[in-house]
Amino acid sequence: MFIYNCDKVTTFFYIFVVIKDIKKRMDREIRAILASVVHPETEENLVDGGFVESISATEQKITVALRFRKSRDPFAVKIKNRVEELIQDLYPDSTVTVFIKQGENNSAKRKEQIEDMQRNSTTSTIGKVVAVASGKGGVGKSTVTSNLAVALANMGYKVGVLDADIYGPSQSKMFGVEDYLPDAVQVDGRDYIIPAEVGNIKIISIAMFIRPTDALLWRGTMANSALRQLIHQTQWGELDYLLIDLPPGTGDIHLSIIGELTIDGAVIVSTPQQVAVADVVRGVEMFRNPNVNIPVLGVIENMSWFTPAELPNNRYYIFGNGGAARYAEVAGVKLLAQIPIIQAIMEGSDNGTPAVNTTAEVEKYYRQAAEKVVEKLMKDC
Ligand code: ADP
Repeated sequence: MFIYNCDKVTTFFYIFVVIKDIKKRMDREIRAILASVVHPETEENLVDGGFVESISATEQKITVALRFRKSRDPFAVKIKNRVEELIQDLYPDSTVTVFIKQGENNSAKRKEQIEDMQRNSTTSTIGKVVAVASGKGGVGKSTVTSNLAVALANMGYKVGVLDADIYGPSQSKMFGVEDYLPDAVQVDGRDYIIPAEVGNIKIISIAMFIRPTDALLWRGTMANSALRQLIHQTQWGELDYLLIDLPPGTGDIHLSIIGELTIDGAVIVSTPQQVAVADVVRGVEMFRNPNVNIPVLGVIENMSWFTPAELPNNRYYIFGNGGAARYAEVAGVKLLAQIPIIQAIMEGSDNGTPAVNTTAEVEKYYRQAAEKVVEKLMKDC
């Protein structure tokens, strides 16, 4: 009898969790659609412009209420039809209804909410924030972020990772938490996001809130407001270090993240190639700009050389020899590490276990880099 009841409770709980997950996913997808529709006059998308009053979504029935500030907005009907069409395309079996409401919206309230979020930010319990940046994509910035995080955690520090690389978020994959759907909790009437946790490292990624195929939609204000929430509402708890995996290059997202929280230092990742190094220069200049003024902790030269197992004394400089290292010297920036091309690093990123935890050689390189980062932060910041 007891077992029977237990099964029933488990089944009920399972169904409840599944329904909750479906609703969460639908809500996210509908919001992504709404964020892809821009009001022609205000040039704001519907989410960031505060047009979305409510979303109610089940697999059978989807209802969205849009509020337009003007009492007679000439674009209202066109937008309503467009939104209905887009949602219907994604959910052909659901009944989709979009309501229009007219009159003043709640943007003042929204501004107040943002200020309240910033005032009560969960970042207040973080020791040091380190941004990991690169001049361009594909140089190993995300790989360095995850391995550096593990190296710091192995040194006994409490570490968090915020994946803010809107154009190619990969931390969920690197830590093997691709299926993690963050839950929200309410504490004293405020909403908080629960990060994934792997071996004492807390991870939150923009990828946990979007489908990778939607990443291109996540530009401008929408990406900024999502990142703002991830920064201030994630339950970080006490952290010694928060590493932020920034998008490659320099742009609006960087500036808005810099505006949201105090970054104590930046680590720049580059391959030794001259072209990659040229992009690094721009990155370093951005951090050193007097309006930004973030200390550059140093450069990590990644993919510095390759040593085949059968020729352990040989180094092949596939991407050039020491370009980033030379730049570090010229620019007066510390060289934190030169990390060779190692198959285990690539495999670790692919299978969700950063190689620092599996390969002694990799651990050695990253421990060295982590120690220099800690030392530099203690000395300069
Ligand atoms: P980015 O974040 O700069 O776009 P990634 O971290 O995604 O770059 O790395 C790009 C690719 O290079 C990934 O497949 C990663 O596994 C691989 N990679 C990065 N660093 C190394 C390395 N030192 N040795 C071998 N593969 C590496």
